[in-house]
Amino acid sequence: MDQTKRPRAEAWFRYADDLGIGPYYLDRASQSARAVAMPVGEIDADVTMSPEAPTLHKTADGAPGKPVALPARAPVAAAAPPLIQRAAGPSLFESADRIEGDTLERIRADITPTCTRCKLHKARKQIVFGVGNPKAQLVFVGEGPGRDEDEQGEPFVGRAGKLLTQMIEAMSLKREDVYICNVVKCRPPENRLPEKDEIATCSPFLLRQLGVIAPKVICCLGACSAQTLLETAQGISRFRGEWFDFRGAKLIATYHPAYLLRNPAAKGEVWKDLQKVMAYLGLQSKRR
Ligand code: URA
Repeated sequence: MDQTKRPRAEAWFRYADDLGIGPYYLDRASQSARAVAMPVGEIDADVTMSPEAPTLHKTADGAPGKPVALPARAPVAAAAPPLIQRAAGPSLFESADRIEGDTLERIRADITPTCTRCKLHKARKQIVFGVGNPKAQLVFVGEGPGRDEDEQGEPFVGRAGKLLTQMIEAMSLKREDVYICNVVKCRPPENRLPEKDEIATCSPFLLRQLGVIAPKVICCLGACSAQTLLETAQGISRFRGEWFDFRGAKLIATYHPAYLLRNPAAKGEVWKDLQKVMAYLGLQSKRR
């Protein structure tokens, strides 16, 4: 490689890894060979089918079973190097204690429609709080609203949102059965990634939402929400599809639907992750 181009290429790979798309660039061929179909009809016609069955984590003695009760944010295999290396320094969430009698309405009111806590308020049209079943067993967490969400005040209603809805339906659920929200509640300009200070300001509201809903499973969509909740800077590709304990819930991270729109070959990986969630929640897959 031309050495003058190396720093840019390395920066791009780091960025891709942070987005959780590193493997796509590093291992495109083997990834598409391993892909399994997500039963979402027309949108996955280009993804190959494999007979691989859904898998659960093994129990301590190695037998398949329910996801292992992991110590908080610990890797599955005791002898393996840690999947997650937590960021040094104070936890983002140390001050975010549970609030007695908290409700989603109260959290929404606390944010206020005119919130100016961070710089995202300057360009947003409205707060995008979250939508769905307040008693959902499954919560999907994205990064932040895009243009359509900013217009409509509801998370995941644009192209990526439509794919998420298909993914939810492929799990034999409806959008109304689950809860959908984001790390930041205001649209980052030009759909850039939320910045650290914006995440630090807004994520306590996400934590309160998760505390009130108390789901069985939290499914992080993309690196931003996974890295925020797991308090790690590691690329999502390192821990995608693994179970973690998170404040009494199970947490799993998978690729963001926006990434799948650009890279349909990764749908198989995501479908495998969703099948783990389905197995944990006792959901039956839809027949094709
Ligand atoms: N992407 C997200 O992360 N969240 C949304 O609400 C929409 C797109």
